[in-house]
Amino acid sequence: MRYAILSDIHSNLEALSAVLDHLASERIDRYLCLGDAVGYGADPEACLGRLRACRAVSVCGNHEWACLGKLDVRWLNEAARTAILWTRDRLGFSDLDVLRRWPLVATEEAVTLVHGSLSHPDRFEYLVDLAQAVDTAKACRTAYCVVGHTHVPVVFEYDCSTRQPARILSSAGELAEVRLAQPADGMRYVINPGSVGQPRDGDPRASFAILDTQAGTLTVRRVAYDIAGAQRKIREAGLPELLAHRLAVGR
Ligand code: ZN
Repeated sequence: MRYAILSDIHSNLEALSAVLDHLASERIDRYLCLGDAVGYGADPEACLGRLRACRAVSVCGNHEWACLGKLDVRWLNEAARTAILWTRDRLGFSDLDVLRRWPLVATEEAVTLVHGSLSHPDRFEYLVDLAQAVDTAKACRTAYCVVGHTHVPVVFEYDCSTRQPARILSSAGELAEVRLAQPADGMRYVINPGSVGQPRDGDPRASFAILDTQAGTLTVRRVAYDIAGAQRKIREAGLPELLAHRLAVGR
């Protein structure tokens, strides 16, 4: 199976369109969306429409959870809170109904999807250190666990036989082409594809990944998109300036 892994689209239609255009020339069997499809950006309905059109398997992120009233918006920073309240007003019943049907954790053959980590999916923990990656690898019942939330691409490899982490890959060069061990070799992977719509690793281009379970490869790709167009829409919508500004710096 060849999976396109998209996370943290954040209502950025310009970024999502550039990614889907790029993927149109690839053989993709299944699109996976790791949550936070909405929030921050100005195009929530259109982004959900694009995900529907490619029949993406999606899980809820904290922004969907907040839109659905399942997370107290007071826990969010001011820009996120303003954007969530704006998004909630903007989405119609049918879009909210779609989000309500997204689970916190989903399994698609050999791949488990969750927004933050498997330790407590409803707490939306940022998976940033090795101990958390090991916990999620241990909790995972499939060979691959794909996570988002940090907006920073990274791959953790965990050796089930020695119960030790084997590799951490985080540089752009390492992530451009990762050779994966076959599941039969007892390796498990925690994979973050980075963020489509609001990258935070210093590279403002949209980030996503292609996982080929048959070939045993993972590639994290970056595509340039119309950042100025996405910024203009955020400003025209009256959303916080910070949300427009950060797209250009990728932080
Ligand atoms: Zn996010």
